[in-house]
Amino acid sequence: MNGYKLKIVWMYHDIMDLYGDKGNMMVLQRRCEQRGIDVVIDTCGIGESCDLASYDLIFLGGGADREQMMLIDDLLSRRDNIQKAMDSGSFIFLVCGGYQLFGQYYIAADGSKINGLQFFDYYTDTGKDGTRCIGNIAIECELDGERMIAVGFENHGGQTCNVKHPLGRVLSGYGNNFTEGIEGFYNGQVFGTYLHGPLLPKNPRIADFMIVKALRRHHPQLTMEMLTPLDDTLEQKAREVLFRRMNISDIR
Ligand code: GLN
Repeated sequence: MNGYKLKIVWMYHDIMDLYGDKGNMMVLQRRCEQRGIDVVIDTCGIGESCDLASYDLIFLGGGADREQMMLIDDLLSRRDNIQKAMDSGSFIFLVCGGYQLFGQYYIAADGSKINGLQFFDYYTDTGKDGTRCIGNIAIECELDGERMIAVGFENHGGQTCNVKHPLGRVLSGYGNNFTEGIEGFYNGQVFGTYLHGPLLPKNPRIADFMIVKALRRHHPQLTMEMLTPLDDTLEQKAREVLFRRMNISDIR
């Protein structure tokens, strides 16, 4: 697939990397390289100058409350630039702590309030009496009309509510909060999820979906079918182990 170039920026790479979120970057890089897609992965730390709108894909991983507090002023100072990136068609991939910060606010475990970027209506309160959603998770999602089952691992105190466009329905585990049975946020351009593990190694179709969505910024005609197929035998085995553990039979 010569002639294709994917530009990725990983925000706060040095502090937002819980439960192997870095693996998401490794998977995108490897799946592009195997197909001859030129891929660049830059990083953007606190205080570093960076035009986020020049990237096809922006990634922000998960982090503990402490890290979220460390970066929030810097993140809020980039709000206009992130809006510009969205206007230019950049795909945005957010995990857990990063996902929370694109909403209205996050109440940390110690009760302090962190105001988010407020791009979306959802907000995140802390779990009652320090309770956390922890464990393996499987969700069923429909990504631009295509059904996929995503598996991963979650560990968050935050209870995210008022999500108008959930990413998926929970098959096993918790998701956005203890009660609603929905997970993440997806509006066609911004993909937020509580799934770590990291997400993409065990969900190669979602990795390819993101590659296509991001490349479409410059190649609007590109489809999933046009990607060179890769051997995902190992990934499928990893998925099957998790499906068995969660007693899920509807494997895809
Ligand atoms: N600190 C946040 C919470 O506990 C996010 C944690 C995470 O990114 N895994 O809800």
